[in-house]
Amino acid sequence: MTWPGWSENAPDLTSLSSHDFSDNVRVYFCADCGAHMLFHTHTGNTKLSMFTGVIEKADDLITIDRHIWAGDTIDGGVADWIYEVDGRAVTRHACNYDKDEPQARPIIKQLPHSSSSFDENDVLEASCLCGGIAFQVLRPHKTLSNPPTELAFWQETNNRFYTSICACHDCRASTGALFQAFAFVPTACIKQKDGELYKPGMGTSKPYQASEQAKRYFCSGCGAFAFFEHDDLMLNGETGLLGVGVGLLQSKAGAKANDWLFWGASCVHLGDDANHRPLIEALKRGLLSWGKAAYGNDSIALSEKSMHGIYQKSIRASKASG
Ligand SMILES: [Zn+2]
Ligand SMILES: [Zn+2]
Repeated sequence: MTWPGWSENAPDLTSLSSHDFSDNVRVYFCADCGAHMLFHTHTGNTKLSMFTGVIEKADDLITIDRHIWAGDTIDGGVADWIYEVDGRAVTRHACNYDKDEPQARPIIKQLPHSSSSFDENDVLEASCLCGGIAFQVLRPHKTLSNPPTELAFWQETNNRFYTSICACHDCRASTGALFQAFAFVPTACIKQKDGELYKPGMGTSKPYQASEQAKRYFCSGCGAFAFFEHDDLMLNGETGLLGVGVGLLQSKAGAKANDWLFWGASCVHLGDDANHRPLIEALKRGLLSWGKAAYGNDSIALSEKSMHGIYQKSIRASKASG
């Protein structure tokens, strides 16, 4: 959102890290936790805008109005899930809203879902904006022929990684967005550029200890959110399952990476903590109806089961450590 009056009275931003997002846009983020705070555009009049995730009580201040650059997502991205907030239409534009007409709401088609739909030898490239964090994701069937049961929940999602959306305080405050999407990927499926499997601190990633149990990694070069490690997702004393920021994944199918991810459509994690309740309620409604259309009604039970699987693992891990 654009903050009225800030173009004339620009604050001192020297304590923040910055990255040139494009020729016109410079992003400012926290050097300690990676939170995206502000961005600066200098086409015509210089303008300062604020990221919504770092605004407290956002629902009093922000009206969700439109999706822009939906065309860049290829598959519609989150615009397929949020088409109204509080019954008020949220328009969708292929590029910028002042340059093109709103697009019609697409009809969601069922996605392929048999395990043979996805090539086991496929590799998914992943990178942050500046390229300082870059890795490949491998198919779980190929990589984990005999997985421990704690990691096996992906078997039922046919070679795709279970992915969920979280609206908790830490996700908002550490990214600058009102919600964050994680793909739960076994570390054995993440290959670094040097050919080694995932190790904490890869490339330009920088850790932030968000709580006693949780560590988040962001890129110190561009601020991109990269990884989430949690004690509950440990296996044999090491991170077994990693929350990977979906924004890093470069699937040819589009921003939702539907050929690699199975979206848990039955819930938004910690939705009760949302800073913009009407938005998260709209997201829940839109995600559920998208999930039914994209995966079929039965998949909602599978989505719940997968989420439950992760929680069961959490319960087991906390019992074992307690
Ligand atoms: Zn980066
Ligand atoms: Zn969260």
